[in-house]
Amino acid sequence: MTQNLLPQSEFSLVVHGGAGTILRSTMTPAREAAYHAGLRRALEAGQLVLAAGGAALDAVTAAVMALEDEPLFNAGRGAVFTSAGKQEMDAAIMDGRDRAAGAVAGICGPRNPILAARAVMERTEHVLLIGESALAFCRAQGLAFEDTPYFFTQARWQALQDTLAMRQAGVDNQDASRKHGTVGAVARDSHGHLAAATSTGGMTAKAPGRVGDTPVIGAGTWADDDTCALSGTGNGEVFIRYAACHEISARMRHAGQTLAQAAQGVVMDVLAPHGGSGGIIAVDRHGGVSLPFNCAGMYRGVVQADGVLRTAIYDEPLVDYAAVTGGNKP
Ligand code: ASP
Repeated sequence: MTQNLLPQSEFSLVVHGGAGTILRSTMTPAREAAYHAGLRRALEAGQLVLAAGGAALDAVTAAVMALEDEPLFNAGRGAVFTSAGKQEMDAAIMDGRDRAAGAVAGICGPRNPILAARAVMERTEHVLLIGESALAFCRAQGLAFEDTPYFFTQARWQALQDTLAMRQAGVDNQDASRKHGTVGAVARDSHGHLAAATSTGGMTAKAPGRVGDTPVIGAGTWADDDTCALSGTGNGEVFIRYAACHEISARMRHAGQTLAQAAQGVVMDVLAPHGGSGGIIAVDRHGGVSLPFNCAGMYRGVVQADGVLRTAIYDEPLVDYAAVTGGNKP
């Protein structure tokens, strides 16, 4: 597995757009370029904040909003469908300065669920709001809403039909890439502060009301200035049961492991053997970066103080895709 480790940097932003069975054989060059372009837009949005000396919290918010707006990724516009044909989104954000955290679960309406999570963090005394009451809160806060057609994509709808047909035929859906996806961002700003944000539609054909690891602080999202900021993607139930993100932070705090040791150890030796297919993006308090995943691929990208936007999809090195392909047109 390519390590995808990056050195310390005055600031670092890492993004992901989900992990799973991403096969080159099912990818066209145009589609691949579109994924790289989507990741690059998210990196640019966060880079604008960090290069101007802004806060990690604002950078991860901007990056995740860009990913939510991109229908290719399973969050916001383009979220997957439940078995009942509805979209139920989860999101969380955490500030490493004081471990402030906010999350929402089971919502459909706010254009950017990550802004709903941030509003919970900043404007309530709570950490997690769910369902209709969370939506009422978002309306009261004046967040932008969209009607259901905005979030619909034919590809996700088709994935639901295929998954339901397979279920009916008693066939296990092995193609995790059709079931999965999530977006996330972690950052270290030039003041040494960390933040993490994650947003998802969950898993295709999930039971209505099912909540994954994304909005569970310590499972799919974590930030603590003393250790690291983390955002996960993969089989959410396993991430929850093994408190995946908190486990990485705890290994650094209590066992003196480096970010790379802790992140790699949890993704490969804890999650993988227990059915936790997926990956985690990670940044430490010095701006060092690690992006381990235990499946075929993870849409991912990094930008640091050198300003180069580096992205990758499969088990491969991160590259400046625009420079490599001589352009960045999907
Ligand atoms: N972790 C997400 C969930 O379980 C799905 C994914 O990242 O693929 O809701």
